[in-house]
Amino acid sequence: MARCYNFCAGPATLSLSVLETARDEMVDYQGCGMSIMESSHRGKQYAAVHAEAESNIRELMGVSDDYAVLFLQGGASTQFAYIPINLLGEGQTADYTNSGAWAAKAIKEAKLIGDVNIAADCGSDIPTRVPSQDELQLTDGAAYLHITSNETISGAQWKTYPTVDAPLVADMSSDILSRPIDVSQFGLIYAGLQKNLGPSGAALVIIRKDLAERVPSGTPTMFKYATHIDKGSMFNTPPCFSIYILNLVTRWIKEQGLENVYQQNVDKAAALYAAIDGGDFYRGTAVPECRSDMNVTWRLPSEALEAEFVKQADAQGFKGLKGHRSVGGIRASIYNAFPAEGVDALVTFMKDFQSRNG
Ligand SMILES: *Cc1c(COP(=O)(O)O)cnc(C)c1O
Repeated sequence: MARCYNFCAGPATLSLSVLETARDEMVDYQGCGMSIMESSHRGKQYAAVHAEAESNIRELMGVSDDYAVLFLQGGASTQFAYIPINLLGEGQTADYTNSGAWAAKAIKEAKLIGDVNIAADCGSDIPTRVPSQDELQLTDGAAYLHITSNETISGAQWKTYPTVDAPLVADMSSDILSRPIDVSQFGLIYAGLQKNLGPSGAALVIIRKDLAERVPSGTPTMFKYATHIDKGSMFNTPPCFSIYILNLVTRWIKEQGLENVYQQNVDKAAALYAAIDGGDFYRGTAVPECRSDMNVTWRLPSEALEAEFVKQADAQGFKGLKGHRSVGGIRASIYNAFPAEGVDALVTFMKDFQSRNG
């Protein structure tokens, strides 16, 4: 069996042990004579998976009973609209920070629903960064402040979250469960599953329950958080298979402990940034204090060398290193499941490439 080193930004690498468990359970799930994909979402097999996934998330993230943990369809992008539909009332303003491509998409959707104030704008800064607390220009009585915890494309990450009066809403699609956080700082956290949590197509939403009561009457049933809180994410057929894999991923994180996973993430990122900073050949694209532990982005002296780097790396089994088409350069996505030995191997390749081309 030849597994490559998969640096893809999302869908992204999953732990081999998760894949092997899913393989072993695929055809006959725990002796019930069918796969979990084929069994009723109201049956006892799936009900146990669904309940364990929620309880593992609660345990790993320290989520109190004041919050609901939801599994919703439509990925993170659907949440861009869902949030203002539910939380941004008539006559209110929502504050948004613009830190790059994903924040901009969230802002675009919110503007379709209501009034938006850009509390800080560093979306087109190069080197890229996220705003600091001091530069936030907040609205009095804002409905909420939306931030993008980690800009997956540019590789800039909030290291400490802002403290504000309004409920803090965070898109954590690309760094959820990569480090311990204090959920009580947030009104709402959401993340598409396909970076750190499992397969694509669903989103994890953690919402303070009182916020779900803001939804305007007349909002269609499926588009209200309140519906899904009330029905435990079972109002309609949930994305069962994605939640099943999510459950395996949460078990895998629990086995290691979130603190250990976090320490490994810090070490992996530090090794890559050290290779980038070890000379003038490579150039990191995020300001050092905002450098992401999940998506490491850098440039080479020319686009021709970048193309050559990606080509040679690919031939050696390092897949998915080409930067996002909108920004170019190189991007190594090293989520929780990306192995440390893959980072070490890439660092060796980088040094060799530098000595041959620098
Ligand atoms: C990938 C990503 C999204 C979009 O996720 P989808 O599930 O494809 O909608 C949103 N925000 C961030 C920060 C992302 O990395």
